[in-house]
Amino acid sequence: MVVNSVHWFRKGLRLHDNPTLQEALNGADTVRCVYILDPWFAGAANVGINRWRFLLEALEDLDSSLKKLNSRLFVIRGQPTDVFPRLFKWRVTRLTFESDPEPYGKERDAAIIKMAQEFGVETVVRNSHTLYNLDRIIEMNNNSPPLTFKRFQTIVSRLELPRRPMPPITQQQMDKCHTKISDNHDQLYSIPSLEELGFRTVGLPPAVWRGGESEALDRLNKHLDKKVWVANLEHPRSNTCSLYASPTGLSPYLRFGCLSCRILYYNLRELYMKLRKRSNPPLSLFGQLLWREFFYTAATNNPNFDRMEGNPICVQIPWDQNPEALAKWAEGRTGFPWIDAIMTQLRQEGWIHHLARHAVACFLTRGDLWISWESGMKVFEELLLDADWSVNAGSWMWLSCSAFFQQFFHCYCPVGFGRRTDPTGDYIRRYIPILKDYPNRYIYEPWNAPEAIQKAANCVVGVHYPKPMINHAEGSRLNIERMKQVYQQLSHYRGLSKKSLIKQHVVNWHS
Ligand SMILES: Cc1cc2nc3c(=O)[nH]c(=O)nc-3n(C[C@H](O)[C@H](O)[C@H](O)COP(=O)(O)OP(=O)(O)OC[C@H]3O[C@@H](n4cnc5c(N)ncnc54)[C@H](O)[C@@H]3O)c2cc1C
Repeated sequence: MVVNSVHWFRKGLRLHDNPTLQEALNGADTVRCVYILDPWFAGAANVGINRWRFLLEALEDLDSSLKKLNSRLFVIRGQPTDVFPRLFKWRVTRLTFESDPEPYGKERDAAIIKMAQEFGVETVVRNSHTLYNLDRIIEMNNNSPPLTFKRFQTIVSRLELPRRPMPPITQQQMDKCHTKISDNHDQLYSIPSLEELGFRTVGLPPAVWRGGESEALDRLNKHLDKKVWVANLEHPRSNTCSLYASPTGLSPYLRFGCLSCRILYYNLRELYMKLRKRSNPPLSLFGQLLWREFFYTAATNNPNFDRMEGNPICVQIPWDQNPEALAKWAEGRTGFPWIDAIMTQLRQEGWIHHLARHAVACFLTRGDLWISWESGMKVFEELLLDADWSVNAGSWMWLSCSAFFQQFFHCYCPVGFGRRTDPTGDYIRRYIPILKDYPNRYIYEPWNAPEAIQKAANCVVGVHYPKPMINHAEGSRLNIERMKQVYQQLSHYRGLSKKSLIKQHVVNWHS
């Protein structure tokens, strides 16, 4: 029987460790690699220009890797439910794609699998976006997702090691199912430009993060070089340099699947064993990757994971509605240079450091402005290159004390936190150049600088740079009281003691 495969790329934009692409090739006579994209919907999606650019670069990279194997990427314009009936007319007999752990993705995929069945097309779906089988974790936790990281680690420690990564696709494999590429391929199936997606690109600065598998693999090596500390299990300290985009950062690549999380896992493991004379690494070595799995597991069966309403794990907090304050935060006009610098970096470059995310998320929610985490999450969703439905919503709930039993009586100070991380304030000077001539002493709190200093720095607070939008000491004190009340009521309703409800899982993201 003739086997004509279509491999549908969504995330998993790579040729290495791609089990479903391997399945597509397995015994096939022809294979077409497709990506489905609807330019009409691009503008309507809550995705900023930086992430679109990253995606298009990742597709370019995929296409050029496939070209080297005498194949091409077919970018098909439209919606999957409209596209597939047309595609199946290519006498397709097998459709392969990576499974999507998100609830909406699962729903979409179920509809496509049903449609494929009606067309007599076999579907092959495998997990390669997460290390573990999330359903198995849930099953082992009495059929509900673990809601503390500690519990999650306990369960994971009982599981077998994740599946080993698969080798990259080879020329020999592709040759066996060579598919003729038509002369007008570029006309019909080319990767769209940002302009076609409706973006204006005049004056667009060069990308700080380059999308694609090639870049991801290059970064993986640099990432591992940096991680020689694994031998001693030291925690890297955050300093000014950590705040800038780093050539070792991986989150956008893991988000789009340009990099396999299993490759990262096994490379870390092998590096550790080499340096530690073959002893087995502790679970903590994979701490960051496990946080990713933790949020995926918590979200996979909860379609309301990204909202307060109807979300069974989310504490219902009566947040304020304040669109004006939200806009100031989102646009970096709060009057707190540390917060404004972070939000400016996010908007310009699409990535900010984990602790910077903590700072701005705390400021928006329980720390200062008392605005719902949902609003902050949406701004991150638009601007972050690594914006990920499960991890983003989970982290925002975490930071705002809305889930996962977080401590609420510690707030980050928008002055002191930055100063400890970057005492000279150079990070602020880079992203808020109007403050560049402020002396170190006042750069985090320019409103406290004497008038003469403000004038000498050519930046008078209230004229050239905003006054602080809130009195942090007062605001945070009030908000801690509000949060205390919410949790007191909760413990009353649930008949739980306050102590057991507010377990203090101090954010220890490196453990
Ligand atoms: C409010 C808030 C929102 C966030 N939104 C996202 C998001 O949408 N997408 C996202 O990938 N990360 C998100 N994070 C987690 C974290 O900040 C980033 O993953 C990290 O900064 C990426 O930098 P890195 O690649 O240098 O990470 P590394 O420290 O090198 O870690 C390696 C990988 O592990 C994963 N990882 C690391 N830390 C975490 C974490 N705390 N939770 C989950 N996964 C983690 C990432 O995939 C990361 O690339 C968020 C954190 C906060 C506080």
